[in-house]
Amino acid sequence: MATDKKLPTQEEIEKDFQEFFEKKYGDGVSVRLGYVGGQQATSEQSEAEIPEPQKTFDLKFDLKPKDIKKYLDRYVIKQDEAKKALAIAVCDHYNHVRECHENPDATDTDYSKQNIVMLGPTGVGKTYLIRHIAKLIGVPFVKADATRFSETGYVGANVDDLIRELVAQAEDNLELAQYGIIYLDEADKIATPPNIIGRDVSGRGVQIGLLKLMEETEVDLNGGNDVASQMRAVMEFQKRGKVDKQIINTRHILFIISGAFTGMEDIIKKRMHQSRIGFNVEITSQKDAAAEYFAHVTPKDFIDFGFEPEFIGRLPVHVVCTELEVEDLYHILKHSEGSIIRQYENAFRSYGINVLFSDNGLEKIAEKAIEQKTGARALMTVCEKVLRNYKFELPSTGIVEFVVTSKVVDTPDEELKKIMSDPEYNRTCVMKEQIHRYESKFHADHDLKIEFDAEAIEAICQSAIEQELSIQQICDEILKSYQHGLNLIKQNTGQTSFSLPRQVVDSPDPILEKWIRDSYHTKEEIKE
Ligand code: ADP
Repeated sequence: MATDKKLPTQEEIEKDFQEFFEKKYGDGVSVRLGYVGGQQATSEQSEAEIPEPQKTFDLKFDLKPKDIKKYLDRYVIKQDEAKKALAIAVCDHYNHVRECHENPDATDTDYSKQNIVMLGPTGVGKTYLIRHIAKLIGVPFVKADATRFSETGYVGANVDDLIRELVAQAEDNLELAQYGIIYLDEADKIATPPNIIGRDVSGRGVQIGLLKLMEETEVDLNGGNDVASQMRAVMEFQKRGKVDKQIINTRHILFIISGAFTGMEDIIKKRMHQSRIGFNVEITSQKDAAAEYFAHVTPKDFIDFGFEPEFIGRLPVHVVCTELEVEDLYHILKHSEGSIIRQYENAFRSYGINVLFSDNGLEKIAEKAIEQKTGARALMTVCEKVLRNYKFELPSTGIVEFVVTSKVVDTPDEELKKIMSDPEYNRTCVMKEQIHRYESKFHADHDLKIEFDAEAIEAICQSAIEQELSIQQICDEILKSYQHGLNLIKQNTGQTSFSLPRQVVDSPDPILEKWIRDSYHTKEEIKE
């Protein structure tokens, strides 16, 4: 029941508590409610805003793991465990950087850097996660394939070059470069399994080189064999008549190595089965068993896989990314802020063409992409294939709008012909899509699911053409009493999903009134 009584303020509650406790325990007791460090404490801090990317790294770093996770959620679908683990490791790392900066004389010999190993198949968001983290905190980011360094006697490619690339990414801001992130993909290829005879042993050399960088070392920027550092040395010499050493310390650079680590699951499985005592983990999933095993990976497994113990010892954080399923691919297209769909929308918009991706079309793209087994990478491949001729042909026609339906994805060329030769066909496709979008918006706005049946859709399209009105105007007119009316029905019967037949289009109010009357009967019946 509503009451007019005003709720007490925090101070009033405190006063009441104070009086109560003083009575009980004497006046040595002081009561303060829910304050921590001058801020009101709640069990869950009020929903933090999603942070925006920093232009450049701020040494007052104050992000919380949840902030980072929330930011990543905008772009990266699924991979929740990976997001959490990364968010924690990244916060630990940059909090430590901040503390070192605030307290340069403090010794931190006990601190071990939160370098990361990421395990998971190709195209599931490993690089994408790290790119977004680097962007969020405003640090330079370098990605390289570990295989680049693995040829025997590697020609030119030296692990120190990674540091020089970081400086280039930081636009020669040496300080910023020292807080950057180096991401080494295909790291599983630099493992050298001990039992394989005759295997290229340069991987071991690369591991040792990286080990030094990952710990702490100083890299002379002018000492590289690459063109950039040679040029830098020449320019420095021309300017100053000598080449000074330009040193970068790698202490605060965060290293992430990643790979699919194919075969690692067998090593983990074997170990888990050997040590049956205390073994209480059941791997149940048939779908992504590798990820389930990866979740239990230990440094020993990495060593058995072919990594040097010292190397793997410098990578204490293990992050697992799981395979993406067809629904995940659909969600990436539909909901990720970085969805490639935006790219296509922009590309067509440049020619004054509005492309609408229907939900069925997106589902079809996802279904085709999953077959390629390259994760979300395949989405681009499928879209390119489907839409290539559309991008070529449509800008030279008068078409200003079209829909990527499931038919377009299935038989792109046939549909393109129809769209180009039959304006009525194209117009109807667009109108149908607009009706579906209207239904979705109605659902989102009013929490009531409506679905026009095929005849109703035809009738709406017809009315729009005859009356020269937009789909939105026609639907608004038809459904002007429906939000209220359907809500009444919902209250009476609990029904939240409504199929709308043609009669709704022809005479919306009488049929709504009938449904409402029926719902009162149903309500009575339920009571009885
Ligand atoms: P990998 O796991 O091999 O490093 P990437 O992170 O490079 O794969 O993914 C390739 C592209 O696929 C990304 O640039 C991004 O557009 C898309 N992508 C991959 N995984 C996801 C995901 N989980 N959520 C959203 N987009 C993703």
